[in-house]
Amino acid sequence: MCSCWELVKILKDRGFVPKRSLGQNFLVDDNIRNFILDQADVDNRNVLEIGAGNGALTVLLVKKARKLLAFEIDKILCEHLRRIIKQDNFVLVCKDALKEDWNSYGILPAVLVSNLPYNISSPFFFKLWDEDYDVPHFVVMVQLEVAKRLVSREKSKDYGILSVLYALTHELRIVKRVSRRSFWPQPEVDSAILKGVRLNFLEKDVKKMLKVLLNIAFRYRRKKLYKAFSIEIPEVDWRGLLAEVGIDPDIRPDALSPDGWFYLAKLGLSKLKHKISEV
Ligand code: SAM
Repeated sequence: MCSCWELVKILKDRGFVPKRSLGQNFLVDDNIRNFILDQADVDNRNVLEIGAGNGALTVLLVKKARKLLAFEIDKILCEHLRRIIKQDNFVLVCKDALKEDWNSYGILPAVLVSNLPYNISSPFFFKLWDEDYDVPHFVVMVQLEVAKRLVSREKSKDYGILSVLYALTHELRIVKRVSRRSFWPQPEVDSAILKGVRLNFLEKDVKKMLKVLLNIAFRYRRKKLYKAFSIEIPEVDWRGLLAEVGIDPDIRPDALSPDGWFYLAKLGLSKLKHKISEV
């Protein structure tokens, strides 16, 4: 079994230069990759990997998974992966993972694993949430600040749209902090391993309303909640409406709990549907 460094060396020997624009910071710490594998618990399950890269995780995943569906956007790395991984249970898709329907390859993943390229972390988490993939759990390495944002709660500076969305559908935990020294080339910041377990699914309409309200409110994060909504939907008496349902109209968007946002989305559906669908 190749160590992480050996996999990097194969690429270096072929003159490969990592592309910053694709977030190519390869894992070079065998202890961290073993930790990710333990957390992912992939034995005999269908697995999805985003950004297989030099294969640091892929070579281990393919040994344990029932089937492994891996996306990699870089053609040179796809050739490398095809050279080093010959197992029949490996399906490599050399495309942009953000533009694909992950369920369209006949392998419904039970686990998602990724050392996520830093440049796609937000769009990746929005896609996973928006498109409602029925992936029971995931283990994903991201920049520490992104992990903190995802797990944060109201009244924290890191709290934002993704924190609210994931709090309502997943149990998320940072299971390890990872030093920047665990990657080649070394990035400027540390990373973290985030573990997510799917708790439930929300109705389509509620999801849509939630996104509309969150997008408006967090665009005006420093304003009072009623003001933020009034800017974009002025025909509604937001102060009165929020007070009526027990939400303080004067709080800022980042002070409302995930349950509060859920409640507001439900209310939006019953009272504001026709007005908000135009926004
Ligand atoms: N899995 C390897 C590891 O753990 O060392 C590589 C991880 S590296 C941080 C991220 C990988 O994702 C790179 O190989 C990069 O080319 C690939 N990548 C970047 N954007 C992508 C996208 N939109 N779709 C698929 N792969 C992408």
